[in-house]
Amino acid sequence: MATATLTIDLNALVENWRALHAQTDCDTAAVVKADGYGLGADRVARALARAGVTKFFVAAAEEGASLRQALGPDPEINIFSGHMAGDTDMISDLNLTPMLNSVDQMLRHFEALPGAPFGVQLDTGMNRLGLEAAEWDAVQDIALAQNPTVLMSHLACADDPEHPMNAMQLATFKTMTDGLGVPRSLAATGGILLGDAYHFDLTRPGIGIYGGMPFVDAAPVAGLAVPVIQVRDVAEGETVGYANTWMATRPSQVATIAAGYADGILRAMGEHAWCYVAGKRCKIIGRISMDMIGVDVTDLAASPKGVELLGPHQSVDTLATAAGTIGYEILTSLGARYTRRYLG
Ligand SMILES: *Cc1c(COP(=O)(O)O)cnc(C)c1O
Repeated sequence: MATATLTIDLNALVENWRALHAQTDCDTAAVVKADGYGLGADRVARALARAGVTKFFVAAAEEGASLRQALGPDPEINIFSGHMAGDTDMISDLNLTPMLNSVDQMLRHFEALPGAPFGVQLDTGMNRLGLEAAEWDAVQDIALAQNPTVLMSHLACADDPEHPMNAMQLATFKTMTDGLGVPRSLAATGGILLGDAYHFDLTRPGIGIYGGMPFVDAAPVAGLAVPVIQVRDVAEGETVGYANTWMATRPSQVATIAAGYADGILRAMGEHAWCYVAGKRCKIIGRISMDMIGVDVTDLAASPKGVELLGPHQSVDTLATAAGTIGYEILTSLGARYTRRYLG
């Protein structure tokens, strides 16, 4: 096997969704934007649909169109970017539900597709998408007359339960939506973990389903096994890789493994990252190249055939920390070159 294998455990994925759902008394959707956080939106969404998920969210109408082909006519497919210019046919033909996020989008939607489903996105402080309180006051009668499926907003700091922004956004969301009789949604993964007050009628977890933080109890979903191309002896004082950044301080064995930054093993991980061989930790050494990485395997009893970069011993968040980023970016960076294997 010459290429690295990305294993996606759909049973673990479904288990994570169920565990998040079980923390609430409301409906739970699944966010499958960015190709299901890099793990394959079609496979991920079909597994979740089989497990009873009926509502999905993606970022763009194009993603929604492709998801509709994968899921068939029944599930609700919601679009975070709303109804953008040029999206009308796709929204209409594939029965997508845009989360309208500006007065312009409302006008476009009500004029082009009167009676077609939509939700409304409200800004409660993140200042990314959605109507602000004054705009919402001005248009809410018109919007409510068209029967929105949901009123939603998004938390900026939900991964930090102590952050005062959470309570502020919650209060703003309530002020903007209390008593309107429309289903409400505020929480993504982080918001679910903040507790009941944040759950409303529908939650929208993404990262927790894929096994990432802040869902500490998540089962690992992604496994990455990378084959060794070659093992060589390196004498004390010799260097490995571009720019000579690693020098052997003892006679060493160095394995060159078949993955690199083109596969999403971010170059910024540099020498802060580790991999595992049969549970034993081995240091990544030298610069990460486009297609190859050096690993110090001196302390192993035998030359390894391959190494584990993601799996039971190392989570996406551990790798993310090595690169100074978050699990979301590790997952969505995983490359197209891997052999993908789906379990379950
Ligand atoms: C991405 C996203 C989610 C899912 O967030 P996670 O942190 O991955 O659970 C939910 N709502 C909105 C608006 C998003 O953009």
